[in-house]
Amino acid sequence: MRPEILYPLFKPVGSLKGVGPRMEKALARIGIDHVADVLWRLPGAVIDRRNSPSVKNAVPGDVATFTVTVDRHVPPTAPRQPYRVHCHDETGTMVLVFFHAREDYLTKTLPMGKRRVVSGTVEHYDGQVQMTHPDHIVSEAQKESILKFEPLYALTAGVSQKMMRKAVMGAFENTPDLAEWIDDAYLKKQNWCSWRTALERAHHPQTSQDVTLDAAHRSRLAYDEILANQLALALVRAAMKKTKGRPNTGNGVLRAKVMVALPFSLTGAQEKALSDITRDMESTQRMLRLLQGDVGSGKTVVALLAMLVGIEAGGQAALMAPTDVLARQHMKTIAPLAEAAGVECALLTGREKGKNRDALLARLKNGEISLIVGTHALFQGDVDFHDLRIAVIDEQHRFGVHQRLGLTEKGDAVDVLVMTATPIPRTLMLTAYGDMDVSQLRDKPAGRKPIDTRVMPAARIADVVEGLKRQIAQGHQAYWVCPLVEESETLDLSAAQDRFDHLQSVFGARVGLVHGRMKGADKDAVMQAFAEGRIDILVATTVIEVGVDVARANVMIIEHAERFGLAQLHQLRGRVGRGAAQASCLLLYGTPLGDTARTRLKVLRQSDDGFHIAEEDLKLRGAGELMGTRQSGLPEFFIADLTAHADLLDVARKDAQLVLDKDPQLQGPRGQALRVLLYLFERDSAVHYLRSG
Ligand code: ADP
Ligand code: MG
Repeated sequence: MRPEILYPLFKPVGSLKGVGPRMEKALARIGIDHVADVLWRLPGAVIDRRNSPSVKNAVPGDVATFTVTVDRHVPPTAPRQPYRVHCHDETGTMVLVFFHAREDYLTKTLPMGKRRVVSGTVEHYDGQVQMTHPDHIVSEAQKESILKFEPLYALTAGVSQKMMRKAVMGAFENTPDLAEWIDDAYLKKQNWCSWRTALERAHHPQTSQDVTLDAAHRSRLAYDEILANQLALALVRAAMKKTKGRPNTGNGVLRAKVMVALPFSLTGAQEKALSDITRDMESTQRMLRLLQGDVGSGKTVVALLAMLVGIEAGGQAALMAPTDVLARQHMKTIAPLAEAAGVECALLTGREKGKNRDALLARLKNGEISLIVGTHALFQGDVDFHDLRIAVIDEQHRFGVHQRLGLTEKGDAVDVLVMTATPIPRTLMLTAYGDMDVSQLRDKPAGRKPIDTRVMPAARIADVVEGLKRQIAQGHQAYWVCPLVEESETLDLSAAQDRFDHLQSVFGARVGLVHGRMKGADKDAVMQAFAEGRIDILVATTVIEVGVDVARANVMIIEHAERFGLAQLHQLRGRVGRGAAQASCLLLYGTPLGDTARTRLKVLRQSDDGFHIAEEDLKLRGAGELMGTRQSGLPEFFIADLTAHADLLDVARKDAQLVLDKDPQLQGPRGQALRVLLYLFERDSAVHYLRSG
């Protein structure tokens, strides 16, 4: 349960003074629901308003604050003219300029003959000092309300800087002092101030340096956020490692049979990963290993051989995929190989129902089934194993830490292998998995040809269609991915629908469409038709499940490629180039193309190495945006910037480990403070592992 001291920070943001229902709604759009969420949005810039020259000495381009007397109002005489208000101080005159102004508002805020303090950017026009739309207009009595250093927040429509500052002020009234959770010596060494002081400094910058990521108070706050993340992961890891492992030693018989059935030999990286895995499984500690490899790097075979170790040792194995389509695909790969080894295997997804499901569960429970492939249906309550030894989780970033554990509770000291297709950079890996053991498949299976990747403007779509005709005539198949419009699934859909209609008018009935709104069975039917070659072109929104394997498909066309992230584009491209024929990928972009988008597309054209691409993606987009954090299941950071604060991540990781070595239940004074930190950053589920321990 959340500590009482944090209650005020978890009140709805609408409870703050000055935050009405409309603003509450607008804030919710940028993920601000609780009072604490307001605190986490730190200003990214500051406006220095200390400069208050006389009118005569005003320098164009400067932000300046003047005290002036209002002389006269000049409303526009023609439609496009601005409304002008003439003013003066003792050194000269200036004009305040307003477009689309409301006269009643201006006569009220700038009454004739009155003194007013105005602040904004100075302009010179026709030898006259002027200011267009001042940022602030107040009476002399309210002069102090114009901050000398004004923080600027990244906001959304419906929330002004002023409203946000009000919310921040309200949030501080609800902010308690919290006991220090950072190690004393480290705090001193870094010369960091307390949590509350750091927050105040961040929200009330006094210099432009104060809003930079490497300002001391910003680093401290980033460290807090990262420490919460790392401590949560360390707790999960500790909980998993605590239950002693069972040494799972295989005799190699089943693996040998599968190796004979495989039409290829393993790559060096696959061999190395397998030896890591068998060593883990043989040890008395539980295995908790991440198998990281680019699309098509051959993880499935490694997973199968790892599962066979558990089966050779006399137990069972499970492989869990994030979607039905992927589970079925794994099954298709695994079934013939398992058969060659005489291993009984089965598939369990949400679609297995009734008597079939009952029979399957019975055979799983009595141990007749040695290997099961499935979706999250595998950890439903009534699924019992006879003796589950190893769980392989094909992650694709869609499971949380929780679900990972769910399956392992189905057995006794289950060894865990997590597979991920996205080669996330090390920093992100640490935030998502903590200190997990890692095996990487960096080299691709031999004989894979690089994909011919081209970038061209969308205006050349007619040429693209002509080229596609030739490809199809040669018996190839193509994916056509339609623009991603983040805000609206409906728009995604209509773009895909339009393209589908267009392509059908050119290619006839051998064009299919899949999108996110389709029912699972309908989607599968179209995918199936594509896999069996009854359809040549598959038009899709981004739902082409990562990992779907159609060997004859060797053309990938992506419209509005500039709207996708690098990693996403790389994943999509990885759908082709699995067969023997030369594969190609066309990245069509809309104009004008921004600099970052241009760089992104260039990286993709030049590199085929997922690890390199992931690093570049992190640099270009920042971790927060990477792969659309929310869907990705990667943790979201508000304060920490994983490119700027990567060094803090290493410190936090070691710190978290040290803390748990000394005080595994977090009961000492620092432990208690750290519990509060976990709740503060909503890592409540991690605290659960303390009690259950
Ligand atoms: P991933 O799961 O990493 O995306 P897969 O395991 O599906 O990759 O492998 C992609 C393809 O490469 C499959 O068709 C698989 O049979 C093949 N493959 C795997 N390992 C090798 C290898 N060592 N040599 C040649 N082909 C391989
Ligand atoms: Mg695969």
